[in-house]
Amino acid sequence: MPEYVPLKVSDPNLLFDATGKRPIVGMTHEEMAAFLEELGEPKFRAKQLFQWVYQKGAKSFDQMTNLPAGLRHKLEERAMVALLEDEVEQHADPTRTTKFLFRMLDGQKVESVLMKHDYGNSVCVTTQVGCRMGCTFCASTFGGLVRNLTAGEIVDQIVMMQQHLLEGERVSSVVLMGSGEPMENYDEVLKAVRLMHDPEGLNIGYRHITVSTSGLVPAMRRLADENIPITLALSLHAATDELRSELMPVARIWPVAEVLAAAREYGEKTGRRVTYEYILIEEVNDKPEQAAELSQLLHGSLAHVNLIPMNPVAERPQYRRPARERVIAFRDILEEHGITATIRREMGGDIDAACGQLRNRVARKRGAARS
Ligand code: SAH
Repeated sequence: MPEYVPLKVSDPNLLFDATGKRPIVGMTHEEMAAFLEELGEPKFRAKQLFQWVYQKGAKSFDQMTNLPAGLRHKLEERAMVALLEDEVEQHADPTRTTKFLFRMLDGQKVESVLMKHDYGNSVCVTTQVGCRMGCTFCASTFGGLVRNLTAGEIVDQIVMMQQHLLEGERVSSVVLMGSGEPMENYDEVLKAVRLMHDPEGLNIGYRHITVSTSGLVPAMRRLADENIPITLALSLHAATDELRSELMPVARIWPVAEVLAAAREYGEKTGRRVTYEYILIEEVNDKPEQAAELSQLLHGSLAHVNLIPMNPVAERPQYRRPARERVIAFRDILEEHGITATIRREMGGDIDAACGQLRNRVARKRGAARS
C-alpha cells in the first residue's frame, strides 16, 4: 500500500518578505495585540483593528477613523490590511450566484463562490492553489499543487465577498470546498475557521462551517478532537475500494472501511451528522446496484448523502453527467434504504462554478494569448 507523505509547509509569512509589510488580515486578536506592542502602541487597539478588518471589511488604514492618525500612519508604513484583489467576477443568475477570481500578492489566483439562498448567503472558499490529490474527475488537480493558502488568504475571500452584499446582509455559512485539500493545509485552515467564527469579526457559527475532505484519515481524527463543532463532509464517490481508488488515488492509502470509520468517529465525537459527498458520473458510479452498495455501507451511521451530478471537465470527456432520471433513481434507492439524500442544486454550473474550472480557463486563455 502506498504511504502518505505529509506536505512540508513552509512558514506562510515568508511569502510576504518581498513587500516587508505585515498583512493584518489573518491575524488573531493576540497577534494584533503583539503587533501593536511592537509598534509601541496600546494593545487595546487590537479590538478596533480586528473589527475593521473582519467585520467592516476595511481595505485601507485610512478608513479606520476611530484609530488615532499617528497609529494609522505607523500601520500604513509597516503593514497592509488585505491580501486579495479582484481579478474576475462572473454572474450566473446575477441575483443568486457569483463566482470570483482573486489575485494574491505573488500573482497566484484563487476562486471563490457566493451563493444567495432564501435562508442566507453561503460562500465556497479555496484552501490551496491547485491540488495534489489527483482525483480523476476534478479540474483543480491538473497542474498539481502550487502552494497552501495562509489563514489570511482564506478568510480574506469571505471578507471580499461580504463586500458584495447589500448593507445589512452577511455571509451566514461557509463551505471549504474550493480547490485544494483543506486537511493538507490543516493549521492554516483551522486558524481561518476560528477567525471566521469570532463574534468580533465575521461571526459565522461553527455549525454553519463545512470542511470537505477527500479522506485524509489522520487529519480527520485530529479534527474530531479539536472540540469545534463544524460539519465534516467526506468525498466518498464510490462504495468499493476498487472504484474509489480509480477515481481518487488517496483511496489507495486509506481504504473505504478506514475512511468511513474515521468519519463515523467524527460524527460520534462531535454529535454532528457527517455529509457524504457522492458525485454522479454516468455509467461509472451511478448504477442502481451501486446505490444499493452505498446504502449498505452507510447503514446505521448518522449520515447525509449529498449527490452531485458531475460538472463536466474539458480534460476528461469520458466522464459525463448522468441524465436527471438516473440521478433521481439513485437518490430514491438510497431513500428506500433509509439513507437521507439530497441532490445538490447545480448553482453556477454555467459559470464554471465547479472547482478549479474558472482558474483553469483563465490560465488557458492567458497561455493562448502569450503564445
Ligand atoms: N479536496 C476536498 C475539497 C475540495 S473539492 C474534497 O475532495 O472534498 C469539493 C467537492 O467537489 C468534492 O466533493 C469534489 O469531489 C467535488 N468535485 C470535484 N470535481 C468535481 C466535478 N467535476 N464535478 C462535481 N463535483 C466535483
